[in-house]
Amino acid sequence: MITKKAAKSVTGKLSEKPAKAVGTAAKKKPGKAASPLAPERIHAILDILRKTYPGAVCALHHRNAWELTVATILSAQCTDVRVNLVTPELFKTFPTPKAMAAASLPELEELIRTTGFYRNKAKSIKGAAKVVVEKFDGKVPQTMEEILELPGVARKTGNVVLGSWFKIPSGVVVDTHVMRLSRRLELTTQTSPEKVEQDLIKLIPKDSWIDFAHELIYHGRQVCIARKPRCADCTLEKLCNSSDKTWTSH
Ligand code: SF4
Repeated sequence: MITKKAAKSVTGKLSEKPAKAVGTAAKKKPGKAASPLAPERIHAILDILRKTYPGAVCALHHRNAWELTVATILSAQCTDVRVNLVTPELFKTFPTPKAMAAASLPELEELIRTTGFYRNKAKSIKGAAKVVVEKFDGKVPQTMEEILELPGVARKTGNVVLGSWFKIPSGVVVDTHVMRLSRRLELTTQTSPEKVEQDLIKLIPKDSWIDFAHELIYHGRQVCIARKPRCADCTLEKLCNSSDKTWTSH
């Protein structure tokens, strides 16, 4: 159970708890802690995340599967906020896969320039539009195997679109936040997104794959940030033995 105080802590208020390990690695107690992969620990992590971030959803603005596909391609090495600034004009100018397939690369590049890597991204979204139109009758396909045929789409984008739009649990989205938090929470020791995903798929029940990734992304953005995690404000703190904690209760 999360206390009201604990749930509140993710909203941005600094905790008033005294720091026990600020700036130092948390000390582990070998032999005393349960296995990091014990089913009851995994269950507790899922439970806390669900209660801390009820209704967590994909932060990329979209109105259909195609817009989410494009937005996710554009989000590589770019913030969702930046992508959300660019997509309204992009989809106003080229509202359908057919229109985007017929667009010129310079036109697309100009519209998405601020998302970075815009030349490659323009090629990807135009190429993806062409495949959707020519091979899938203008509709984003609903299997991982098929969606991976779109240029610029790898498993992460496939999982985002299949999970967030079609509600199909095809795998676990592994972005930079899911990668970092999964390692801090000792759910994996892997460093490649593909291998991290395979570990998570084995640990997390399939009906939680979609929400788990959304919740972990929220937690990574708000609390378990990369450089200085806000451990004193973290609802998972009691379950976390990460070596780069900034505060610990145990
Ligand atoms: S305790 Fe700290 S390192 Fe562990 S999950 Fe929470 S914020 Fe991240």
